[in-house]
Amino acid sequence: MEKICVAVRVRPPICHENSSSTFWRVDDNQISLHKLHGSPISGVSYTFDHVFDENCSNSDIYELLTKDIIHAAVDGFNGTAFAYGQTSSGKTFTMNGSSNDPGIIHRAVNDIFQKINMISDREFLIRVSYMEIYNEEINDLFAVENQKLQIHENLERGIFVAGLREEIVNNAEQVMKLLESGEVNRHFGETNMNARSSRSHTIFRVVIESKGKDTGSFGDYSSSDAIRVSVLNLVDLAGSERIAKTGTGGVRLKEGKYINKSLMVLGNVINKLSDSAKRRAHIPYRDSKLTRILQPALGGNAKTSIICTVAPEEIHIEETKGTLLFASRAKRVTNCAQVNEVLTDAALLKRQKLEIEELRWKLQGSHAEVLEQEILKLRNDMLKYELEREKLEMELEKERRSHKERDQYIKEQLMMIENLSSLVSDGDGSSSQGSMKESPIEECHNRGDDFKTPCFKTAPKAFVAKRSNYSQLPDFSPLPDSFSDVADEDTWFKINKGYIADLDSLQTTPARKVQSFPPEDVTPNYLNKKYKKELQNLKRRLELVTEEKNELQRKLAEDIEVKDRLKGDISKLKQEALLAREMPQRLCDSVTSFKDTYEEVLSKMQRYTFDGKSSTAKLLRCISEIGSILFSTMETSISNTTDRHKLSSGNDSLIQEYNKMLSEKLKSTITSLILSETASSEDKQTKTSCSCNFEVVASSRYHVSILVLFFVMILGYFVPFFRTLIF
Ligand code: ADP
Ligand code: MG
Repeated sequence: MEKICVAVRVRPPICHENSSSTFWRVDDNQISLHKLHGSPISGVSYTFDHVFDENCSNSDIYELLTKDIIHAAVDGFNGTAFAYGQTSSGKTFTMNGSSNDPGIIHRAVNDIFQKINMISDREFLIRVSYMEIYNEEINDLFAVENQKLQIHENLERGIFVAGLREEIVNNAEQVMKLLESGEVNRHFGETNMNARSSRSHTIFRVVIESKGKDTGSFGDYSSSDAIRVSVLNLVDLAGSERIAKTGTGGVRLKEGKYINKSLMVLGNVINKLSDSAKRRAHIPYRDSKLTRILQPALGGNAKTSIICTVAPEEIHIEETKGTLLFASRAKRVTNCAQVNEVLTDAALLKRQKLEIEELRWKLQGSHAEVLEQEILKLRNDMLKYELEREKLEMELEKERRSHKERDQYIKEQLMMIENLSSLVSDGDGSSSQGSMKESPIEECHNRGDDFKTPCFKTAPKAFVAKRSNYSQLPDFSPLPDSFSDVADEDTWFKINKGYIADLDSLQTTPARKVQSFPPEDVTPNYLNKKYKKELQNLKRRLELVTEEKNELQRKLAEDIEVKDRLKGDISKLKQEALLAREMPQRLCDSVTSFKDTYEEVLSKMQRYTFDGKSSTAKLLRCISEIGSILFSTMETSISNTTDRHKLSSGNDSLIQEYNKMLSEKLKSTITSLILSETASSEDKQTKTSCSCNFEVVASSRYHVSILVLFFVMILGYFVPFFRTLIF
């Protein structure tokens, strides 16, 4: 266990203030605030590993603070150096430097190559990448097209940025050129405090792989053939800023908020880590991309140094105090760095460096350089294909997820249709309620032509089977795009705290699926052919992946079509349901208007019966009674129908009983009337003239016949209508 190395650097004052009443004084490794006449202000004094005053150079800082970490990285330790401080305090100056006084990054790169050239018993392979975190998005500074990259984690590679371009390099000049090209893509902006303020955090990453030269024959990957893989991060953070001072607005304001937020998370992580181990609980690495990427450097398997830059001016006194407080906390953080040796095939060097040596050995100097360049180019090409493939696999994964979501959506739609159709079926009085409990998919099979909703269950299955035939997806970390507070602390402790000496679980370089050469035939032609074949293989795989993507797109189009059809069905069903719901009310209205008409006709007819004692009057009364019973029964039943729960099957038999009873009553009234009418007409026959009697009888029978006919018509119309309504 070792503590993080923390230093403070005071930048030269930009303008000399006349009215200042305090100043920062540097004595050895101590910095304290003093009053103008020299007496120290109590409580504002801090001690660090190093404190550099305004006269120090980048070279001093490199020698005292960073050099050891760089050398350790060459020896297989992970290393991180980063600059922290308020905006315009000199972070970028410290990391990048100027032409007269190169910064830490330039010095580190030169030093790495110098050191590896001096190590004669090991072979090295160096890869570099350059990224920035801008507005909480990771962009590749070596390849502008690689934007919004995702952080993943697996046991083989540890925490890594998927799709980030890595370049294999073999001298410092090559790295400088790459850095220059990357610098162009970086986000800078003007604020009141810095004309060229860094608006993003940048991480320059060097992966150093090395292996001892004294191994056995080529291609013999014996257990002694251990590869060291270390990752060196050189980080230039964007500065924390007070909006009031930087005078930012619009885009700058938004950037400032993201910068401050991620620095706050960094502060939280340092605070948590500086608590004693017992009190230390959850470390919120996942709260920002910066802390997630720097996770190994903060309390993990890495040697880390922090240079905290401060501005000496009195107006920045609060920010300076804040930075010094952060530095004091960081000083208490301990890391557990160890040499990362891997025995797996994951190390790229293990395969590539052997091949270079084989070539050298075979060619014995002739054309070796030209061929080496060619090989380097081919390797870089392969690396790019690998990255491309990685990206495509990620896209496929995304596609798969959205496909699943669509499936879910379609299932929900089906359920909705089921619900609607059951509503409509209930409205129709159909007795299929039991079958509604079947699953939507079974339903779909059972219905046949009645309900033409397509079945979707088989499509995803078919897709999954095909997918698994083709390739296995990489193990992506469960880290979602948006941050969550759930850190996989167990895995993290296993990998980075060194409690378990499981070398496979250490942070290693990406696994490249490049096959090593067979040892028997190693002529340059053979090697070139081999590489070409490899490239062709990669292309073929790319084609397969593209095909699969196209198939997915086709399926997506099909799904959309089906979804549209479903939407149409749903709206039709909704309309039907609406009609069904309105039906009882409409019937009720019709019955009321029929009743009115019926009562009006009856009352008119009753008016012509004079004394009300004639047989016609009796018949009309009877019809009126029956009619009002019939109408009120109908009205009650209709209102019951609107509330389905009140409707019981008993209603049906009740209505039939009513029907029967009313018919019988009517029949008996008519029969009795006809009989009495016949008797009275026979009586009268003896007293009055024939012609006159004939008219009376004919007139009475005529009225009765009309009324009976009228009533039968009403019954004949309403009873079936009424029965339809009930059922
Ligand atoms: P930051 O990256 O912290 O926002 P910069 O590194 O861009 O700040 O520094 C702001 C300005 O101050 C730049 O013009 C830089 O050249 C200058 N500067 C910072 N530190 C020093 C130093 N130690 N010596 C000379 N100039 C410095
Ligand atoms: Mg800067």
